[in-house]
Amino acid sequence: MPVLQKGPPPASAAPGVQDNLPPYPEADLLYLSGLLTVAEQAQLAQARNFFQQEVRPIAVDFWNRAEFPFELLPKLGKQQLTGLNSRGHLLAGLIQMEFARADTSVSTFFGVHDELFTTAIRELGSDEHRQTMLPDLLSLKKVGAFALTEPLHGSDISRQMETTATRSGDEWILNGHKRWIGNGTFADYVLVWARDTADDQIKGFIVEKGTEGFRTEAIPNKAAVRIIQNANITLDNVRIPFTNWLPGTRTFRDANSLLLHSRVWVSWQAVGQQFAAFDVARAYALQRKQFGKPIASFQLIQDQLARMIGNATMSLSLMIQLARLTESGLLTMDHAALAKASCTERMRKTVALGRSIVGGNGISTDFEMAKIFADAEAIYSYEGSYEINTLLVGRALTGISAFA
Ligand SMILES: Cc1cc2nc3c(=O)[nH]c(=O)nc-3n(C[C@H](O)[C@H](O)[C@H](O)COP(=O)(O)OP(=O)(O)OC[C@H]3O[C@@H](n4cnc5c(N)ncnc54)[C@H](O)[C@@H]3O)c2cc1C
Repeated sequence: MPVLQKGPPPASAAPGVQDNLPPYPEADLLYLSGLLTVAEQAQLAQARNFFQQEVRPIAVDFWNRAEFPFELLPKLGKQQLTGLNSRGHLLAGLIQMEFARADTSVSTFFGVHDELFTTAIRELGSDEHRQTMLPDLLSLKKVGAFALTEPLHGSDISRQMETTATRSGDEWILNGHKRWIGNGTFADYVLVWARDTADDQIKGFIVEKGTEGFRTEAIPNKAAVRIIQNANITLDNVRIPFTNWLPGTRTFRDANSLLLHSRVWVSWQAVGQQFAAFDVARAYALQRKQFGKPIASFQLIQDQLARMIGNATMSLSLMIQLARLTESGLLTMDHAALAKASCTERMRKTVALGRSIVGGNGISTDFEMAKIFADAEAIYSYEGSYEINTLLVGRALTGISAFA
């Protein structure tokens, strides 16, 4: 990873350089993006522009209607964002952050597809899986989903999973229920985690859309991440070829290897969510006038903006160290849990401050902030709830498990 470049910050980030923009347009007060090489900074700027120009403007409308913007997929596919981690973990994380800064639901769609499903095929699949599936997954012509959680088991899924897989000759037979599965209503492939009845171990199986006995229904009435389609799934004697088992999945530990990296991705989302709230709050504070002045001129509003950017910047700094650990092969679940718990705790405070700055309008999605505020609640709970990640950190610090 390159060292922080010496000398003045890039013109676009320097205070007061552009009269028509507020200082620090990207809100990167510590010039942390200067840790990237110049070529990486250009890639980050390109991704940010795409998210801000193509994703953010359509997000509120789709969020209100709880619909998914399928027309975005070809454009997203052309951005070549799949397999981001191969481009370096800091650049990948900052791109994931910028994705969530534009919209969390669409970034969640992409994270489930890329971090969880496509990575599973790449790292835990067979050569045949890789050859036949990866090209369409990378171009987003086909979409994947990751089905671990069940209606009765979330935090305790690794111990209590009820979904089963039974081998029968050249086939597996899957039975059970899954809940909350992102992209589940329309995904071409769903990676279903099930307990092998032969050895009681949890393994991963690919179920293709339309397989007999495999039913999905959208979870209605969500108050957060309304664009991503989360599904309840029923598996009723679903028969799949033996080769649909991912050979790299033999125990829950293999699922956990994927969850390690997706937990880091979700922590980056929690940073993006804070910058999203800041962007909206600052813009609003600068144009909204009360008592004859922009509310941004009031000390209490400036205090709130300063606390928001302090939280976001501290979260970002933590994530930069996580990228370093990942790059050097030292990342563990303890680190990912610390990041997820710490960044999401700060995120909740940051979006609450942002919502307050937008006043009454802060509860209307017409002003974007209400969407950001609500979406933060999903981030707080998925990919290991705040409590479970905190208990993982507690176990790392004491050697005592308080949850199992
Ligand atoms: C929007 C959204 C998208 C999701 N996408 C997916 C997906 O694509 N694939 C997938 O498999 N899953 C997905 N999930 C599921 C998600 O991972 C679970 O919601 C999460 O793991 C928590 O499980 P739970 O909701 O069953 O809560 P529970 O496990 O029932 O927990 C309820 C509460 O009890 C607390 N708790 C539980 N055990 C303890 C303990 N020992 N000590 C202290 N507190 C405890 C929890 O922290 C939480 O506050 C998604 C969820 C949401 C909301």
